[in-house]
Amino acid sequence: MERKDKLVNLCAILLLLPGAGALAWAVYYFPLAKVDVGLGVLSVVMVFFSSYLRIQLPRTKIHLTISDALIIVTLLLYGGEISVLLAALESGSTSINLRRQGVSIKTKTIGLNILISAFSVFVTSQITLLIFGPLEGISESKDIGTFVMVLVTMALSQFLLNSTLVSLFASIKTETSWLKAWYEYCLNTLVMYLTGALMAGLITKSLQQVNIYLLSVVIGFFGVVYFTYRRYVNDVKRTAAKAEQLERDRAEQAEKHVAELEHYVAELEKSSIALRESREKFRHAAYHDALTQLPNRNYFIDQIKALLEKSKNTSDHKFAVLFLDLNRFKMMNDSLGHFMGDCLILQVAQRLSESVGAWGLVGRFSGDEFAITISDVSTIEEVTVFAEKIARRIAEPFTLEGRQVFTSVSIGIVFGSYQYDAAEDILRDADIAMYQAKEGHKPYVIFDRKMHVDAVKLLEVETDLRYAIERDEIELYFQPIIALEDAKLSGFEALARWNHPQRGQIQPYEFIPVAENTGLIVPMTLKILKSACKQIVRWQQDFPGNETLTISVNLSGKHFAHPELVNQIKNILGDTYLYPGSLRLEITESAVMDNAEKAISMLKEIRELGVKLSIDDFGTGYSGLSYLHRFPIDTLKIDRSFVSTMEEGSENGEIVRTVIALAKALNLSVVAEGIESIHQLHQLRILGCEFGQGYLFSRPLPVLEIEKMLGDPARWRNIFPKADPELFHLLPDPQPQLRLAK
Ligand code: C2E
Ligand code: CA
Ligand code: CA
Repeated sequence: MERKDKLVNLCAILLLLPGAGALAWAVYYFPLAKVDVGLGVLSVVMVFFSSYLRIQLPRTKIHLTISDALIIVTLLLYGGEISVLLAALESGSTSINLRRQGVSIKTKTIGLNILISAFSVFVTSQITLLIFGPLEGISESKDIGTFVMVLVTMALSQFLLNSTLVSLFASIKTETSWLKAWYEYCLNTLVMYLTGALMAGLITKSLQQVNIYLLSVVIGFFGVVYFTYRRYVNDVKRTAAKAEQLERDRAEQAEKHVAELEHYVAELEKSSIALRESREKFRHAAYHDALTQLPNRNYFIDQIKALLEKSKNTSDHKFAVLFLDLNRFKMMNDSLGHFMGDCLILQVAQRLSESVGAWGLVGRFSGDEFAITISDVSTIEEVTVFAEKIARRIAEPFTLEGRQVFTSVSIGIVFGSYQYDAAEDILRDADIAMYQAKEGHKPYVIFDRKMHVDAVKLLEVETDLRYAIERDEIELYFQPIIALEDAKLSGFEALARWNHPQRGQIQPYEFIPVAENTGLIVPMTLKILKSACKQIVRWQQDFPGNETLTISVNLSGKHFAHPELVNQIKNILGDTYLYPGSLRLEITESAVMDNAEKAISMLKEIRELGVKLSIDDFGTGYSGLSYLHRFPIDTLKIDRSFVSTMEEGSENGEIVRTVIALAKALNLSVVAEGIESIHQLHQLRILGCEFGQGYLFSRPLPVLEIEKMLGDPARWRNIFPKADPELFHLLPDPQPQLRLAK
């Protein structure tokens, strides 16, 4: 039990005694003689009706009942003893009534209430007795002043006693100070007691006078007061109830709002999670390659930026960027299929990742392009050793669906440092170095400044070349081809020159590869072919004795693969009226050997047009001697490099001798390129070489110069020794093993 409950109990017990005493006193001194009909009516009204005739003061717990007034009436008319008993009776009945209406009141409390009422009425009766003497006759006397005083005294003593006791219990229960409890719960009950006293006074007076008018006036007055007040109270109650309902509605509304808000917040959270997830996915996709899940170019650029930043802050921090490209991947992809191509890329990615480990980062840019960054590098040797290791690892066989496949890699290396400003520049330079490695068939190349300059120049050439073809900036030079037997002009080789409006004349080694790489070679060759054919037709017609002049035109390997080539040649021959046998197309060994079977059928088709075919730069490429007899060709052109260093007994001399012998065995004619000295000329003649071309006779010359030359047919006679025709009879036999090769 709590402390406050104990205290309440203690107070109740303490009250028990005086309460019981008051009751006992009332019973003991009960004035039987005073009992009359009036008392009976009074008792009945009090016990059975007073609890119905009550009004609650709005916003308080105070109930105005008629019983307070009736107790005072009883005190005035019947004295203390009867009043004490009646008060106890009324208190008991009211409490029971309340309990019946559902108010929870303990029996103990009912008992206590009875005793308190008894005690307080007892004290009130004693106080008035003490102040005013016995009350008999007081109500009948004409002394209204004393009568009012008695009433007020009664009301006050009732009020003080009851309020003291009630606030005492309240202060214990609510654990507040007694004064505060009195102020809060009891002070306004004073109205109740004073009203009760006023009512009692009026009732008593009217009962005594038994003045029908007065009584009806009193009843009327109280009736009006009662009903007006009741209406007022009901109004107040209704508005209060309305306000309460409104508040409840508002609270409900608020709760609904809160619930809605909570739902909304939950939805928002859900969608923000989904958003975050999809953002993560997008970010991943933006920075990773879909096939290998390796970082992509974007990611790499960020990574290199970070490395650059680091090396700017710590000057001794060096890093390297490696740009890798698989060799011949496109061909593999085409022949093995894209699925196998993807498998290969995945395995390469794996090997690279393993090789790099925690030292750096591997990324895939596109197709067969990969990149690697390694940080904290101290020497360039460290990087090259690493690059070699990677190249070896990639060169090991791959197993794709049970099949062994080989590939290799070209690596461009940039030794990064703070000297770079942009990450993109590093990648660009690594790419340039990789390209150099590929061109040079090297596993790796380290980038240097010159490469960049070259690359920029290349880019310029590329752009300018597009216009060059449209604007006819490509001019043809012609180099004579001489029959070595009689020094007669046999024909010309057409060689392209580019008259660049700013840079002046550009040589073919600078722009032909660019034209090949950009595909511009096709339109360019067609133009060259056409104007060369036109030119030779004109010379054949304009210079008598030159009707059999031939024109040799170089055909790039890139163009050689073009499906329209045969038609294009046919059209040009038709347009220019050139006799097909006067046209010789020069193709390099490598162009033919790249796809020998297809080349053979293509060469056949061209030959069927009546056009002659030459293998250019013979000896520098594959030396596919075993294939040679299968190619439908007419001429071998011995590369300049053999001729220029040809001396008797030297290795190159042997090669030239062999080639000439081979050509004779295969029934091919031979042209020696790059003849610069009489000595070379003599040797070639001794070896039985039929045709020659070189600075000894003439450099490649523009049209006008050639036309001057055509006017002088005996031009080269003086270069040749006088009594040489016999030389041809002294030629050695073709070598026996070459004859076997045929
Ligand atoms: P190529 O077909 O081997 O042409 C012969 C090259 O040797 C020419 O160089 C020519 O000027 C040079 N030459 C001739 N005689 C001598 C000599 O005695 N000494 C030296 N040092 N050089 C000599 P050019 O004109 O610079 O052409 C270089 C290459 O460019 C050609 O080699 C050819 O492969 C290519 N080219 C030239 N014009 C064309 C063309 O119209 N189409 C194609 N596809 N390639 C062309
Ligand atoms: Ca040539
Ligand atoms: Ca050549």
